[in-house]
Amino acid sequence: MTQATTHEFKAETKQVLDIVVNSLYKDKEIFVRELISNASDALEKLRRTQLTEKNILDENLDLEINLNTDDSAKQLIIQDFGIGMTEEELKKNLGTIAHSGSKEFLEALKNDGEKNEALIGKFGVGFYSVFMVSDSVKVYTRTWQQKGEGLCWESDGSGGYSIEKADGQRRGTKIVIQLKDEFDEFAKEDRIKDIVKKYSAFVQFPVSVNGEKVNTIDAIWLRSKSDIKEEEYEEFYKFQSNDYEAPLMRLHFSADAPLEINSLLFVPKRNMEKMGMFRNENKVALHCRKVLIDAEPKSLFPEWLRFLRGVVDSSDIPLNVSRETMQDSELLRKLGQVLTKRFIKFLNEQAKKQEATYLEFWNEFGPLIKEGVATDFTYKDDLAKLLRFQSTASDDGKLTGLEDYIDRMATDQKEILFLYGKNRKSIESGPYLEALQARGYEVLLLTEPVDEYVMQSLREFKEKKILSADSDELKLEKLDEQQSGESLDKKAVNKLSKWIKESLKDRVSEVETGERLINSPVCVVGEDGMGGASARRIMKMMQGPEEDIPASKVKFQINPRHSIIHGLNKLMEKDEPTAILVANQLLDNALASANLLDDPREMIERSYQTLEKITAD
Ligand code: ADP
Ligand code: MG
Repeated sequence: MTQATTHEFKAETKQVLDIVVNSLYKDKEIFVRELISNASDALEKLRRTQLTEKNILDENLDLEINLNTDDSAKQLIIQDFGIGMTEEELKKNLGTIAHSGSKEFLEALKNDGEKNEALIGKFGVGFYSVFMVSDSVKVYTRTWQQKGEGLCWESDGSGGYSIEKADGQRRGTKIVIQLKDEFDEFAKEDRIKDIVKKYSAFVQFPVSVNGEKVNTIDAIWLRSKSDIKEEEYEEFYKFQSNDYEAPLMRLHFSADAPLEINSLLFVPKRNMEKMGMFRNENKVALHCRKVLIDAEPKSLFPEWLRFLRGVVDSSDIPLNVSRETMQDSELLRKLGQVLTKRFIKFLNEQAKKQEATYLEFWNEFGPLIKEGVATDFTYKDDLAKLLRFQSTASDDGKLTGLEDYIDRMATDQKEILFLYGKNRKSIESGPYLEALQARGYEVLLLTEPVDEYVMQSLREFKEKKILSADSDELKLEKLDEQQSGESLDKKAVNKLSKWIKESLKDRVSEVETGERLINSPVCVVGEDGMGGASARRIMKMMQGPEEDIPASKVKFQINPRHSIIHGLNKLMEKDEPTAILVANQLLDNALASANLLDDPREMIERSYQTLEKITAD
């Protein structure tokens, strides 16, 4: 290639550029951080390449980053001797948004203008931030491969870019930034020094400004906790995870046995998955004595911890090991296990000591903890302590955990009880709570569809069985004094029950008098396990509401003290067809209360028939 070739930016790229340049960062200086971070990445890649490749261009160049300012020319130059780029790489890396999430990025920006700044780093649009402050940018680059050539990429950040040959380039990349007049502060040595000091403290390569070295290379995670200032932790987190906000929580943890570990783990403020855009990827970088082994080791932490950020350093990891062998090494698994256990312990401590922060965590990352409880047998029991639910023992909106629940359990209560419903009100107005409350039993109120599934997977906690309160496994003692009203006599109850069972034989498996009914006339109870009420709701949740799950028969409980049941008893003798309609209607109501009424159309049809009868008379 001798002549310059020109290229248009893709429409998408233009759009992103437009947003980045015009609205994204209020804090313009951040482009320096982005470029230093890219330079540092390029040096890191070279270091890794050196492990396996012999024939590297400019082998003796130091791995360092140099910044130069030219006040009078309003220029800032950032140079690294890293891996460099070929023409193809230039086009791909700087000409398109290589990240597959770019479309989602655009969508997210449109939908959520407020949180723009949180998004930028996560979608890899970092380089473009340079166009916030510049009229034109030249990227001189030369790949590490002997057969490559020197190139110059140039753009003003609007329509497109050009690439031409540039002789005399050394390995790596040199970015020459022609600053806009209003941003000429970034061509001043003192200003740049201040910025670099702030952001380069965590770069593992020397950084200099106008020939003077400004950073001390320092692995913050290897220092002792008492020497580290809060701001240092915060800046490190922001630098390392590309986040503009401070982290929500942090665990700085060291151990000597069974493995030598120094780790610094962070929980971000926000769960990006919750915004429904993309899946978090584990980004806890693996180091061995400060040297980066893998920035995103795939199997270090379990899936449900994919929101974690930070660094793990262990001198037990062999330095010269390929990523592939690393992935399935026993060592990595062990390291992951020790850290995961420690991190869960940390969360449990936080829950006790910093409740408000923990609840903030729960609010963002609760779904991932639930995922862990339901899918990860190894940590299930410890994770279960982290679960939080609403409960009849606390006010609306307040949450409680299983350990506290057990502490409060009534002496005669055997199981941990929960009820699922769309919201607290709908559970409270259902027929199941009354009997439990009359006995002083606390009930956890589950309102997320996944909660019931989580409880079913957990099955027990601290040797206490966990049961849905509408399950027939729950046996309740009689409570005569609480129940008011005259009961139908035994003979009448038997006759009525038999009649209902016969009349509703396609819909009910059994009819019985329920110990759980106090003020309600009827309810249904399900058998736990397959086919039970709880299992049906879970199937509905997983298959979606459109799917037809064949209705299974339920146990129908009637309250022989209730006036409606008295009424039905008489109606059965007087006007059987109407009595059948009423019995069906009662069952419909009971099913609706249990969130088991799949298709309201049949019920509506029946209720019209009933109304017709009443209004005709
Ligand atoms: P990210 O760093 O998140 O990948 P950027 O927009 O900051 O996104 O950079 C885009 C890509 O351009 C990088 O992934 C890298 O491949 C390439 N790149 C940027 N700066 C350099 C550099 N100094 N040396 C080599 N490659 C670079
Ligand atoms: Mg970058």
